[in-house]
Amino acid sequence: MIGFDLTPEQKVLQEKARKFAEREIVPVAEKYDRDGTFPLDVTRKAYDEGLLTLVIPKKYGGEGVGILDSCIMYEELAAACMGIYLGIFVSTLALYPIVKFGTEEQKERFLRPFCEKFSLASYCLSELAVGSDPSSMRTTAALVGDHYLLNGTKMWITNGGYANLYLVFANTDVTKKHKGIVSLIVPSRLEGVSHGEPIDKMGQRASNTTAVIFKSVRVPRENLLAGEGEGFKKAMAALDITRPMIAIGAVGIARSALEFSLEYARKRVQFGVPIVRHQAVQFMLADMAQAIEAARLLVWKAAWLADQGIRNTKEAAIAKAFAADMAMRVTTDAVQIYGGMGYTKWHAVEKLMRDAKVIQIYEGTAQIQRIVIARQLLRELEKATQ
Ligand SMILES: Cc1cc2nc3c(=O)[nH]c(=O)nc-3n(C[C@H](O)[C@H](O)[C@H](O)COP(=O)(O)OP(=O)(O)OC[C@H]3O[C@@H](n4cnc5c(N)ncnc54)[C@H](O)[C@@H]3O)c2cc1C
Repeated sequence: MIGFDLTPEQKVLQEKARKFAEREIVPVAEKYDRDGTFPLDVTRKAYDEGLLTLVIPKKYGGEGVGILDSCIMYEELAAACMGIYLGIFVSTLALYPIVKFGTEEQKERFLRPFCEKFSLASYCLSELAVGSDPSSMRTTAALVGDHYLLNGTKMWITNGGYANLYLVFANTDVTKKHKGIVSLIVPSRLEGVSHGEPIDKMGQRASNTTAVIFKSVRVPRENLLAGEGEGFKKAMAALDITRPMIAIGAVGIARSALEFSLEYARKRVQFGVPIVRHQAVQFMLADMAQAIEAARLLVWKAAWLADQGIRNTKEAAIAKAFAADMAMRVTTDAVQIYGGMGYTKWHAVEKLMRDAKVIQIYEGTAQIQRIVIARQLLRELEKATQ
């Protein structure tokens, strides 16, 4: 049987996230978007509510919430402000690989303190010259005795200026490309770690994005996650879990765009009737509703597969690609429904459109998602014809 009703427990989680979003995010979303500053106070409150440690098992002090249930909660935060949600979510991107691939000792050493005291984490894969093709990364990690000597500059790092912990991908041997990549857990207090100024962005302006610089940083060998040569594979595996969490952000943005649009279309009068009476406007609203519903179900399926321990690389990429494109389309239509008003800072829909755009870019661009999907399709075909 397939059911789409939320369980009583899921409804409680959803309500908890919604109340937090309404109380703590909605009132300040516009201010942080305007200023482009990081809402440390809101993020700290999110920690108090357990929203930063959702996927960390209870054994280490986390909430032990599944991927699907996390997505249900995260939609509520993103519907209030995607930028603020990103700052809350991104620690999961950095910590989930430790949950999944870390040793017991690493989980105790890194996850437990994260749950016990407010902290933030960042995922450091991209570099200025290396985005869609991380296998050609230039950051290096040379094994010298009992530590790795880490050198390089990571770019576009969310929470870069505030993280206490960085999950850093670096190459031990550039001739080996992705096979030479390791992932290292790097506390920000280590000597030689620094970060750049916040980058002034088009959207998701409440999120903090910086370069992070590693200059001859001595990273203890025991901070290596999942063995030499395994770093790249593990980084990609983590994306299978986190892409649905970004995709649900797109659903949240689009849902808000539809809610605003419906409200405005009921009030705005042209040709003697509210514009919602014009069929062309109704069709736009109907298209928005269809696309949002479809995207949410794709996300839920990808997240559910992850919870079952079933490989979901294709489904996670489908959900991410579809939801990101959907949010861009829906928010553009929302601006259209608002007419000239939509093109001003007087209404929230222009923010939603700006916030949607980058979802087609980060966590793998729209084009890279399609490459992942096509590769999986070919793999399935080869398997079926063997
Ligand atoms: C706000 C923000 C936050 C971010 N946060 C993080 C973070 O926390 N951690 C992190 O590691 N990174 C982060 N990123 C980086 C992000 O993941 C990269 O920007 C993204 O992977 C794309 O890389 P790029 O910008 O170098 O674009 P490029 O890779 O240069 O791509 C440029 C264009 O070429 C296309 N393209 C490239 N290769 C192909 C191909 N083979 N086939 C077809 N088209 C192709 C792309 O789709 C894109 O349209 C963030 C970026 C932004 C903007």
